[in-house]
Amino acid sequence: MKIYYEQDADLSLLEGKKIAVLGFGSQGHAHAQNLRDSGLEVIVGQRPGSKNYERAVAAGFKPVSAAEACAAADVIVVLVPDQVQPILYEEAIRPNLKPGKMLMFAHGFNIHFGQIVPPEDIDVTMVAPKGPGHLVRREYERGAGVPALVAVYQDATGKALDRALAYAKGIGAARAGVIETTFQEETETDLFGEQCVLCGGVSALIKAGFETLVEAGYQPEIAYFECCHELKLIVDLIYEGGLAFMRYSISDTAEYGDLTRGPRVIGPAVKEEMKRILEEIRSGQFAREWILENQAQRPVMKALRRREAEHQLEEVGAKLRAMMPWLKK
Ligand code: NAD
Ligand code: MG
Ligand code: MG
Ligand code: MG
Ligand code: MG
Ligand code: MG
Repeated sequence: MKIYYEQDADLSLLEGKKIAVLGFGSQGHAHAQNLRDSGLEVIVGQRPGSKNYERAVAAGFKPVSAAEACAAADVIVVLVPDQVQPILYEEAIRPNLKPGKMLMFAHGFNIHFGQIVPPEDIDVTMVAPKGPGHLVRREYERGAGVPALVAVYQDATGKALDRALAYAKGIGAARAGVIETTFQEETETDLFGEQCVLCGGVSALIKAGFETLVEAGYQPEIAYFECCHELKLIVDLIYEGGLAFMRYSISDTAEYGDLTRGPRVIGPAVKEEMKRILEEIRSGQFAREWILENQAQRPVMKALRRREAEHQLEEVGAKLRAMMPWLKK
C-alpha cells in the first residue's frame, strides 16, 4: 500500500490556479470551503434556484454556471451526482477543456465505465474522501482530516499525481493519509461494498431477521428493536475498534452466538452469490444495467422503492422512531 501525507504534497502546485468545484452538495460544500481555507482560489459552479445555491452564497461564494466555472478554471472537480455527470460533461465541461487542465472526480464510475471520455491532453485524477462531506468539513475545521484515496487515470502533464496530492492536501485529507489506488479498483470495490455489504447486504439481513421473528409470531415492534434499531450500537463499536472491540463489549452469550451462528447465516452460498455480483461489476454488466435504467427514467428503481416503502418494517419503524424524538436531527 502506498500512502501519502502532508510532507509528500506540495500545495504550491495549485497556488495561483483557479479550481472549479461543480456541485455544492455533500462533497462539494466541504471541498470548496476547505480548499478556500487552505488559501486556494475556488469558483463554485451550482445552478441558481436550488437550496445548495443559497448555501454556497451563505458560505461567501459567488456561484456561477458550471460552464462559466469550467472556462475560468485550471482544475475542474466534478461533484454533482454520478448519473448527472455525463450530461454535465458534454454540456458544460468538455467545451471548456484546454490542454494542461486537470479534470477531477471523487468516484471513478463514469471514467472507468467509459461514460465520460476526456481528451488526451488533460490530466484526469481522483481524490475520494473516505467519509461524507460534513465529516470532511468538520475534521478540517478541527485541524485534522478524513483519509482519502488518490488515483491517476491520465497523466498528460507529467504532474498529475503531484497535482492531485496537492488537492488532497487542500481539502485536509493528507493530514490523515492518502492511499493510492486506481479508478478501476476504487470503482469496483465501491460498488461491491455498497451492493454486498454496506447497503444491499445489511438491508437484506435486517429484513430477513425481522420477517423471521414476525412470521414466528413475535411482536413486530420487538422484532424491529432487535433486528434493526440496535444495529447502530454494534456498528458504532465496530467503527471504533473493529470486530474484536465489538465482541469485547457484548456479553459472552452474545459473542458465543455470534461465533457459532454467524457463519451459518452468511454461509458459503452467500459468498458464491457475492462472487457472481462482483463478476457483474467487473464485466460492466451492472454499469450497463444502471445506465439503461436511468435512460428509461428508472422504471425498476421506482417500483422497488415503492415496494420497500410498504414493507412492515418501515411502518413499524416510523411508529417506534416517533417515540424517540432524540433521533430527529
Ligand atoms: P450530492 O447529491 O450531495 O450533491 C450534488 C450537487 O450537485 C448538489 O449541490 C446539486 O444541487 C448539484 N447538481 C445536481 N444536478 C446538477 C446539474 N445538472 N448541474 C449542476 N449542479 C447539479 O452529491 P455527493 O454525494 O456530494 O456526490 C458527489 C460526488 O462525490 C459523486 O461522484 C459521489 O460518488 C462522490 N462521493 C460522495 C461521497 C458522499 O459521502 N456523499 C463520498 C465519496 C465520494
Ligand atoms: Mg464507497
Ligand atoms: Mg458508491
Ligand atoms: Mg437485544
Ligand atoms: Mg464480551
Ligand atoms: Mg441482547
